[in-house]
Amino acid sequence: MSSLRFQALKELGTEEKKVSGYGGKKITAMFASNVFTGRTMREHLSDEAYKSLMGSVKSASKIERKMADQIAAGMKSWAEERGVTHFTHWFQPLTGTTAEKHDSFFTIKSDGTAIELFDGDALIQQEPDASSFPSGGIRATFEARGYTAWDPSSPAFIMESGQGKTLCIPTIFVAYNGESLDYKAPLLKSVAALDKAAVEVCNYFDKNVTKVIATLGWEQEYFVVDEALANARPDLVMCGRTLMGHAPAKGQQLEDHYFGSIPERVYAFMQDFEQEAYKLGIPLRTRHNEVAPCQFECAPIFEEVNIAVDHNTLLMDVMAKVAKRHKLKVLLHEKPFAGVNGSGKHNNWSMATDTGVNLLSPGKTPRTNLMFLTFFINTIKAVHDYADLLRAAIASANNDHRLGANEAPPAIISVYIGKFLTNVLNEVESRVKEKFSEQDEVILKLDIHKQIPELLMDNTDRNRTSPFAFTGNKFEFRAVGSSANCASPMLVLNTIMTQTLRQFKKDVDTLVEKGDKKEIAILQVLRDYISRSKNILFEGDNYSDEWAAEAKRRGLNNFKTTPEALDAYIKENAKQVFFDNGIFTERELEARHEVMLEEYVKKVQIEARILGYLASNHILPTAIEYQNVMIENVKGLKDLGLNKTSFAAQLKLVEAVSGHIQNINDNVEAMIEARKKANNIEDTHKRALEYCHAVKPYFEKIRYHADKLELIVDDKKWPLPKYRELLFLR
Ligand code: ADP
Ligand code: MG
Repeated sequence: MSSLRFQALKELGTEEKKVSGYGGKKITAMFASNVFTGRTMREHLSDEAYKSLMGSVKSASKIERKMADQIAAGMKSWAEERGVTHFTHWFQPLTGTTAEKHDSFFTIKSDGTAIELFDGDALIQQEPDASSFPSGGIRATFEARGYTAWDPSSPAFIMESGQGKTLCIPTIFVAYNGESLDYKAPLLKSVAALDKAAVEVCNYFDKNVTKVIATLGWEQEYFVVDEALANARPDLVMCGRTLMGHAPAKGQQLEDHYFGSIPERVYAFMQDFEQEAYKLGIPLRTRHNEVAPCQFECAPIFEEVNIAVDHNTLLMDVMAKVAKRHKLKVLLHEKPFAGVNGSGKHNNWSMATDTGVNLLSPGKTPRTNLMFLTFFINTIKAVHDYADLLRAAIASANNDHRLGANEAPPAIISVYIGKFLTNVLNEVESRVKEKFSEQDEVILKLDIHKQIPELLMDNTDRNRTSPFAFTGNKFEFRAVGSSANCASPMLVLNTIMTQTLRQFKKDVDTLVEKGDKKEIAILQVLRDYISRSKNILFEGDNYSDEWAAEAKRRGLNNFKTTPEALDAYIKENAKQVFFDNGIFTERELEARHEVMLEEYVKKVQIEARILGYLASNHILPTAIEYQNVMIENVKGLKDLGLNKTSFAAQLKLVEAVSGHIQNINDNVEAMIEARKKANNIEDTHKRALEYCHAVKPYFEKIRYHADKLELIVDDKKWPLPKYRELLFLR
């Protein structure tokens, strides 16, 4: 029965070594070679088509049909030069993965001639058979029409898979009536909304600013394990995480893995996927080991948020594919191993102007520093006002294992800004008075300006426990899960920032209309925002119990589970902020809420089934078999005429095994009953809560006994690869 495990162990280390390395190539030589970049466009498009495409990217406007034909032809000729035969609209449905449906350029004309064709229609819009993608009721299956529509702001690229090459067109995915069914459509809306609101505020300080983009630099954590070992574990195959497994004698307590040298096999894999990433224009910059054994991280140079999100989802795909070449398996799950750190995806977020200014970077003059403070304080207020929404944006069954588990930021949203900025905010708050003169203003601005150099030196953020930390020139949202699509948190962040900036503009304008000088009005409003938002600021240890208690006193929410956290999406203030900024309609919002709850239920349901199966079909038979050996042994000793003390230990073991068998059996049965009960609940929200509070608690109970048995049963009989094998052998 345990053959899969031993087969895998036997094969370990015998696989053909894939020698990677860059073969002396420079990264710049391969970078974006599979991307339809501005330069390739220039070569393959007419002047007219090129300008039309560039113009529409800048202003997010529609491209004329005639131009679309020309652009499609240019793309096709570029792709065919590279041996591409097929194209696909590439999109990000709410399943959390990416979707593709490949069509060939090949077609047959009415007169029977075979030709290769890719026209504007095919570029702009497609109708994938989309009935099986989650829609939360937006698209009833009988009218299963969903459309993918080209997003010209994200460049087309060629995906290589084995010998196959496919031209991929990044698209949004919407229902026939335009309601969004994906991550990208609302993200793009939030990008446009933030652009408008932020430009207006920037214009207080600099009239030359005409465009503001949100920037994202993600840091992706992941585990790598041997593929054959992983395949011998049904839980890893089906759920992406282990549902049982005793902690190894050596865990991460020595922390010898962190920033240690990268194991050779993994190193080869990294270099391989990096090169694939470079060809796709993903600007990877760093790679290193993470805290847990077998855990690693990679991060690119930051990009415009829509592109960064595309690149992250693309990279997750690429990593999984390339890993197979190396007979490895990438685990992007937030918590693949109990008792070992989980994986997150830090989202470094900022805003940049078309004049080249990072709006969260302290300025060089008192005036630009006021602009910095404006965006900085507005961000704090946005997080303060909509903390629950940010929490909801990162909620998932997977991430529940991580948030608040003393390894990741807690489920309580707070903001860390560091000592120097805390002082700056205190000064603004205490020194800006109602009767605030121009002279006060000048002095204050100078004083603040004097503190900025110290701030710049302090930009190494020393608080690793904060879910939302200012790190010198950007905010780092650290509670995002490693397998998540960053679009969710990013669109929420963009939207709440938009709302806050719009209110800020109104508040400042009101004071200016009353006769205040503009800069004094700005300081007045900032002072007010500081006072109203400062209870979201926290500089201490976010992992501590004291903070949970303190947060409670402050009235900050601590939603520990996904079904509870997701409620924020359908609260009044969420609806308001999404409607006001044209991101979601009520139906879209409710549909999304429904999809996420359903996804939660499905995840827990699948885990429950796999756990039940593992326990009943792998663990119990193994335990019984081992117990029988012991029983035979006792019988034999008895036959020899030995007295009870000679086999006391064996009897004790037999008894212990019996206890665990009984417990596993009882709990699996009870879990199945609880699942039946939950499945009968019509309302998705209530069903999710039932799964959370009535089904999931059995996981721990069953696992506890299975893990105990792992310690007792003969190693040669144990069917599942053990933690030490998965984590330390490669
Ligand atoms: P670390 O956090 O490891 O000290 P950095 O501060 O250089 O390293 O950056 C971490 C991540 O932040 C990188 O992915 C980087 O691309 C991203 N980043 C840096 N500046 C910005 C910015 N202005 N906007 C968004 N992301 C940024
Ligand atoms: Mg980081």
